[in-house]
Amino acid sequence: MKNDATVGSTVPQLPPEARKEVMYHGISASSGIAIGIALIVGGAGRSSLDVEPKPITESEVPCEISRFTAALDKTRRQITELQSRIKSSLASEDARIFDAHLLIVDDKMLTQEVIEGIRKELQAADVVFARIIQRYVSAISAVDDQYLKERASDVADVAYRILDNLSGEERQLLDRLPGQRILISRDLAPSDTAMLDRENVQAFATETGSRTSHTAILARSMRIPAVVGVPGLLAGIHNGDVLIIDGYAGTIITNPAQETLELYAQKEVSKEQFFNELQQESSLLPETIDGYRVHLAANLDDAGNISEVHKSGASGIGLFRTEYLFMGNRIPTEEEQFSVYRKIAEGMNGEATIIRTLDLGGDKLSSLINVTHDANPFLGQRSIRLCLAFPELLIPQLRAILRASVFGHIRMMFPMVTCEDEIDQLLEILDRVREELRTEKKKFDEHLEVGIMVETPAAALFAEHLARKVDFFSIGTNDLVQYTMAVDRGNEKIAFLYRPAHPVILMLIDRIVKAANAAGIWVSVCGEMASDPRFIPLLVGLGVQELSMSTGSLGVARRVIRSLRMYEAEQLAEDAMKCGDHRQVLDMSDAFLQRVAPDVVSLAMKGV
Ligand code: PEP
Ligand code: MG
Repeated sequence: MKNDATVGSTVPQLPPEARKEVMYHGISASSGIAIGIALIVGGAGRSSLDVEPKPITESEVPCEISRFTAALDKTRRQITELQSRIKSSLASEDARIFDAHLLIVDDKMLTQEVIEGIRKELQAADVVFARIIQRYVSAISAVDDQYLKERASDVADVAYRILDNLSGEERQLLDRLPGQRILISRDLAPSDTAMLDRENVQAFATETGSRTSHTAILARSMRIPAVVGVPGLLAGIHNGDVLIIDGYAGTIITNPAQETLELYAQKEVSKEQFFNELQQESSLLPETIDGYRVHLAANLDDAGNISEVHKSGASGIGLFRTEYLFMGNRIPTEEEQFSVYRKIAEGMNGEATIIRTLDLGGDKLSSLINVTHDANPFLGQRSIRLCLAFPELLIPQLRAILRASVFGHIRMMFPMVTCEDEIDQLLEILDRVREELRTEKKKFDEHLEVGIMVETPAAALFAEHLARKVDFFSIGTNDLVQYTMAVDRGNEKIAFLYRPAHPVILMLIDRIVKAANAAGIWVSVCGEMASDPRFIPLLVGLGVQELSMSTGSLGVARRVIRSLRMYEAEQLAEDAMKCGDHRQVLDMSDAFLQRVAPDVVSLAMKGV
């Protein structure tokens, strides 16, 4: 998808001494091509003092020095706080260890050496600091004295803390980049991604992650080209390198030759023309050649993007992810949530909006709510499990959604349901909240539809029973695939086992649709399968009535639907469910798509 900020009509001119062109392969997370300058942002959780070189320019020196002193200040505060917290529980002798830690933070010589190093070497603060502190650690370890040897690990401990704080400072800078940049990082959490300086981030690439991690989903919704799960990325890229990110093919090219730059710039132009063409089609009905109408809706994570929804021609919002409201610096109050939900309800001019209750947990963590301590966060106290355990989180949200429902057409949806009694509990709480609002004479839509996400195998297999309790189903294929295949959706090491095309997934979707039909309720898919052109004919053929996706994917989806015949899609789905493995399904659906929508294959899916 074209990102206006990314495309190089102005192809960077390379200096003659440019280094060799290298291509890295990863997972395509968000399509689009970006040509620009690399900025490396750090990552926490370290156990070594090795830091990749990160050259900086003269003009970046003051910023690096203040980053370093800010990290020292933060470390000092953390240590003092830690010291006072545990002083009472430790012998005062032992608590003195923190005095030693503070001495390191306050060591004037060390600070001065780092500041001078930054100026002279023109390297980032963490690179210079790590090199100098490594020297201290080696010198102390080399002394033939057991006590001093042990102090070396104290120095390293403090150094890790300072380095972590330095990367934290970098992360805080994500919302104000020094100019147009391509971000390179070991990982980016969804909370980091949500606050990115959208004007200036041209693209990003990470060593970790996969296509359905929330970071990748956010990149698509922000229309930022992105490649994730790229092994060895940080070792090969330096700050200031010229890069090409090809989000279609999932590749990154460092130090591209002039011909390569020109080739990519040209290709981007033809892709851009295709997406302009799709934009022209945004008012056409998403119906098959033989007249079967599919609902196309948008997935949204930021109420500020409603104009994008209108521009895409979506009829409604099929999923509003409310988690991102909880990733700021405090938990939003009922009134704050109400004003966001009301804004969406009013902005959608009567088109339906599904507001999903808080689905925090897994890879979506908030520093405000302590959901990080589960050993297995995706199987832990995630989503409605968290909300049922802490009604003080759920109830204000239910009240806010209900109150907003009189300002437009709102539907409510509960995520991560596994069992029928969870629905019973949620509906009971909802009834109590309705009663409260009536007593307070606060208005809400008495006929508000309430649905659930079907995204666990238990819910899928039990769909017949669950369908009797709710007004609609929305299939969350991202989690349904994760939990069915037992593959962490964000782990690049096992991404090859994450198989939405596996016949078993299609069989589950078929079962869910049949259960919904039998109960007379409608069914949507709001996971990433809904936007993948290879899976759209399959989902339509299985009888899914609505597909909900990021606004940038809607044009392609509309084109695919308008290229289909329903009876052919049904046959495809039938045949696919009989396949012996996911490869056969993929071959079959690729061949189908190539036949009905070749432009989509060549211009919206492939790289250069
Ligand atoms: C899903 O699981 O498919 C889904 C849409 O929800 P999320 O990606 O937010 O978990
Ligand atoms: Mg989900």
